[in-house]
Amino acid sequence: MTIGILGGGQLGYMLALAGYPLGLHFRFLDPSPEAPVGRIAQRVTAEFIDEQALEKFAHGLQLATYEFENVPVQAARFLATRVAVYPAPNALEEAQDRRREKALFARLAIPTTGFAEVSKREDFDSALKQVGLPAVLKTCRLGYDGKGQWLLRNSEEAEKARLELPDVPLILEKFVPFQRELSIVAARSCSGEIAFYPLIENHHREGILRLSLAPAPHLSPALQQSAEVAARSILEALEYVGVICLELFETEGKLLANEIAPRVHNSGHWTIEGAVTSQFENHLRAILGMPLGATATIGYSAMVNLIAELPDPHEVLRVSNTHLHLYGKSARPGRKLGHVTVRADNFEKLQRRLAELPGFFHRPEFCLQEARPESLANRA
Ligand code: AMP
Repeated sequence: MTIGILGGGQLGYMLALAGYPLGLHFRFLDPSPEAPVGRIAQRVTAEFIDEQALEKFAHGLQLATYEFENVPVQAARFLATRVAVYPAPNALEEAQDRRREKALFARLAIPTTGFAEVSKREDFDSALKQVGLPAVLKTCRLGYDGKGQWLLRNSEEAEKARLELPDVPLILEKFVPFQRELSIVAARSCSGEIAFYPLIENHHREGILRLSLAPAPHLSPALQQSAEVAARSILEALEYVGVICLELFETEGKLLANEIAPRVHNSGHWTIEGAVTSQFENHLRAILGMPLGATATIGYSAMVNLIAELPDPHEVLRVSNTHLHLYGKSARPGRKLGHVTVRADNFEKLQRRLAELPGFFHRPEFCLQEARPESLANRA
């Protein structure tokens, strides 16, 4: 049985690795001849909107899915005329535009950050008046890892943004002085079965995820419940099939929805070793209509992204219960090249193991100091 995946990056790579034990085969479509999945699966190199390539790609597939949320919806729709595509292209479309996402949150009464639309340049001043400063200006489409996003701290920065405003639809969001960033990864299968992983605490630098802690420290049942209610309503409203991630801000003990990722997510990579069933396996089970696997955690996990450069693997693996994942990508500034997951059976031990990681990891950009007891105590 062959599954087609649009996008051939590390998420696809890990999906395939989770699928091989289930007897699955994979075929990827990606515009880049360097897509990492080329090492482990069939790869079609073509633009997503190339219908001839999509036709060839679809031939003989059992079903298709995505590992990249900016796949053009028209490509997903075309593919859906040839083979079942999960999540459905409509769900992909909802998550691709911040305005649609905000409308979905409003429809489902999910609290989100205050915002105003800047559909054209002339809307900027009134949006600024409505939202106030500080604020975050975001392109409605194609933003990721902090790209297409500007923090406006004061009127000088707002004026600079006004002069350099890109000619694309934008939203201006209130800056949220959040206590922390959280995410919830959930899966819904074709049969409607739903499973949730525990809330994950995420630390970013320059808009890029650096560190995830799972389960999130000081996680109360009420907070978990509130995230599950929001995620469930999205999954059900979209009749979603597959894994989804809902990114949230925690502020004053409450959750505000930031955005949805309609796919397996970087903040869920720890599930490979830190949960009974990984997000990758559960995505495959969900789209194949198989029973979902248990999402219970195996102790406590920390996932550290390796961005732009790699450490000495021997030094990393010297720390017990540590796993290294390398994606086979060439180094480039800001590029995710791999990740490390550290696991322990209690949080104190996890902190000790993180402290044992080599010097490479103790630079501020890895955010490991934010997992130390003193910084966690400040948030208790
Ligand atoms: P996004 O692309 O919306 O996930 O934003 C990337 C990162 O920018 C988030 O993970 C936050 O760290 C930060 N960010 C985005 N929106 C806001 C906001 N309204 N207030 C404060 N920080 C934000």
